[in-house]
Amino acid sequence: MRRTFSYAAVTKDTRNADIGLFTNPSNLDETMNDYQREQLDALIMVRDGLRQRLHAQRSQLVDQIQAYMAFRGSVDRFFSRHFNDVCTRTCYESRTSACCSKDGIITFFADTVVNALIAGPDQLDRLETVLRAENNGHRCVFLGDGGCLWTVRPVVCAMFLCDRAMQTVFEPEPDLKIEWEQLRQQARHYKWPDRPVLFDDLEKVFIARGMRSSLMHLNFSPGLLNVKKRAGLLDPSGGRPGRTA
Ligand code: SF4
Repeated sequence: MRRTFSYAAVTKDTRNADIGLFTNPSNLDETMNDYQREQLDALIMVRDGLRQRLHAQRSQLVDQIQAYMAFRGSVDRFFSRHFNDVCTRTCYESRTSACCSKDGIITFFADTVVNALIAGPDQLDRLETVLRAENNGHRCVFLGDGGCLWTVRPVVCAMFLCDRAMQTVFEPEPDLKIEWEQLRQQARHYKWPDRPVLFDDLEKVFIARGMRSSLMHLNFSPGLLNVKKRAGLLDPSGGRPGRTA
C-alpha cells in the first residue's frame, strides 16, 4: 500500500480539464467524484476493449507485458526483502500509513490495462463496485479492508517509498539505495516517453481501435507530449491522436 505523486506536475493540471474531452462509456452514478468517474471509465473501456475489439490480440498483449511483470516481480522482491519489517512495523500494524490515505492517486491507462490482463473477472468486478460507491473515507478509493484491491498495483504505488522508510533502510546500507535507484531507472524505461515505452504502446493499441481515456497521459498530456517531442518521437501529424470515438 504505497503511493507517490511524482507525475502530478506533469499530468494533474491537465487531467481534470481533459476529463470532459473523452467519451464516457459508463452509466455514472451522481455520488461518484470526478476521480472515480475517470477511473471507472478507463476500467470499463479496457474490459470492454479486451472482450470485444481486442479479443483476438489479448494473448499478444499478455506477452507484451511479460518483461514489465518480471520487473514488477523484482520490485516486489526488493520491498519484501528490505522493507517488509519497517513498513509493517511503522505503518500497517499501527494503521498510520499515509501511503493510501488520500483520494486521487495518479494512475496511467497502462496500469489499468496491465491489471485487467492479469486480474480475474471477480477482482475487476470488485474494483468497479468500489468505484461506483460513494467514497467519503478521505483515503484511496481502492483501499479495502485487506489492502489494495488492485491485483497489479499502479506503478506509482509500487515504486513509492516514504522518507522515513528510506532513511531507516538506506542509511545503514547505502548499497541498497543504489539498487533502488537502478529499479527506479528501470521503471522509467516502461513509462517515461523519452524513448519508445510499453505504457505508450499500450495506450496506442486502444487508441488505434478508436478508444480514448483521460488516463492516456502519454498521448494526451501536454507535458508528456513535450517529452516525446524533445525525443523526436512525435508522429509527423503532431503526435496528439485525434478524437475518433
Ligand atoms: S491504488 Fe492501492 S496501493 Fe495505490 S494508493 Fe490506492 S490502495 Fe494504495
